[in-house]
Amino acid sequence: MTMDEFPAYRGDLRYHCLECKSVYPGDELHYTCPECSGVFLLQDHNFSELKKTSGEDWRAVFDQRAAGKMTQMQGIFRFFELIAPVVDKEDVVYLGEGNTPVIESSPRLQKNVGRKMAFKNDGQNPSASFKDRGMACAFSYLNQLVKKNNWDQVLTICASTGDTSASAALYAAYVDGPVKSVVLLPQGKVTSQQLSQPLGSGSVVIELPGVFDDCMRVVEYLADNFRVALLNSKNPWRILGQESYAFEIAQWSNWDMAGRCVFVPIGNAGNITAVMNGFLKLKKLDIIDELPRIFGVQSTHADPVYRYYRQNPGDRSYAPVEVTPSVAQAAMIGNPVSFPRVRELAAKYQQEQGEDAFNVVHVQEQQIIESMLLANQNGHIACTQGGECLAGLIQARDQGLVGADEFSILDATAHALKFSGFQEMYFNRSFSPGYGITPRQEYINQPQSVLSEEDKERMSKDEFTRAAVNEMVRILGLQGN
Ligand SMILES: *Cc1c(COP(=O)(O)O)cnc(C)c1O
Ligand SMILES: [Zn+2]
Repeated sequence: MTMDEFPAYRGDLRYHCLECKSVYPGDELHYTCPECSGVFLLQDHNFSELKKTSGEDWRAVFDQRAAGKMTQMQGIFRFFELIAPVVDKEDVVYLGEGNTPVIESSPRLQKNVGRKMAFKNDGQNPSASFKDRGMACAFSYLNQLVKKNNWDQVLTICASTGDTSASAALYAAYVDGPVKSVVLLPQGKVTSQQLSQPLGSGSVVIELPGVFDDCMRVVEYLADNFRVALLNSKNPWRILGQESYAFEIAQWSNWDMAGRCVFVPIGNAGNITAVMNGFLKLKKLDIIDELPRIFGVQSTHADPVYRYYRQNPGDRSYAPVEVTPSVAQAAMIGNPVSFPRVRELAAKYQQEQGEDAFNVVHVQEQQIIESMLLANQNGHIACTQGGECLAGLIQARDQGLVGADEFSILDATAHALKFSGFQEMYFNRSFSPGYGITPRQEYINQPQSVLSEEDKERMSKDEFTRAAVNEMVRILGLQGN
């Protein structure tokens, strides 16, 4: 196979219910199990075919494709055989998602944290979050279904903490044809940048009082009773696309995951599901010899997964929590839809690589926002959830969970600009008490104004320039040369 040929392999993907274990064919659209409402993972029943190729050969295939030119293979479908090997070339939607950079932290930041670390900038995806990885896969599959079934209309719908809707709206706007997009948002609980995205893409945007969990119940009811395509991460095709994040980390690491830790924020838990499933697949195919250690991170204001894993193995019980305001708003979810997936995969992960290969830590709101500011004051572009990952690494370090010789890759899940409102609240000291954040001067940065409108009117252009220069010389303490 040359690097610019679309792969010939075709998988036999089937939906597997994690609760009642029933199995459904992959050429029908399902979100939850028709028998028991359990969540699905898609499994390739031809996977043993892939095992006939050695790990070394797979590594060579993916490395060659990384140097290729075919548009359809530039993003997540570089790893076609491991993602959705049922999609035809002409149905692939590629908007520039995936293949995001891993940026090793500056020596100063690594020294400050006392651990080796890098951020993977998933905010450099087209709608500025990792959600595009899953959406590219879900829309490519949807294209295939529309073609096969001759559908003349498909309404895509999602509930969102902001980024899912931004991504769904973007891909729907591109695909067009019979596809129309609707997004449901918790009123006032997404940032203005996130709200502007589906509006700008021309989606129907509906706001509901409450939090994400309220919106999720509404779209679930709609999906169960009307002909709509649900694009939340309950949709297992999204999980497949998001696995590309793990594949890219492995490739960036030259396929050697020994001594690596991967930090992921947990909201609805789709992302951490995909990351674990992705690494497990690589291991099964001998593409990597060792799994990296996974750290899920939650805010103390939305930490049901942490609360589950902090109990003794053997008598753990899961309970949703009522969330309270969080700067990691995209992860502010009290009843994660993918929790059963996490439970299933974390057990497999620990079986494979040991107890300490899967961990969940929780962190304070103050630590989250200050870790974001610390990262960005050292040249990163982390969002609040990226800050949550760094707060998680610091927490794990303090608990003795990450050694000085290990290298951590933190997920900057969205671009800093989407969450600049929280930075502003910190700098203006305008957080409401619910956040539990007390801004500290050492992190605050504010614009300083020099001269006034009246000065501008009163002075000639030259006088104004000189006066401004004098002001700046005073503020900066500049010396003449
Ligand atoms: C969706 C999202 C999360 C949470 O991911 P889950 O898959 O819901 O756990 C974290 N950060 C950002 C920026 C997101 O958009
Ligand atoms: Zn079931």
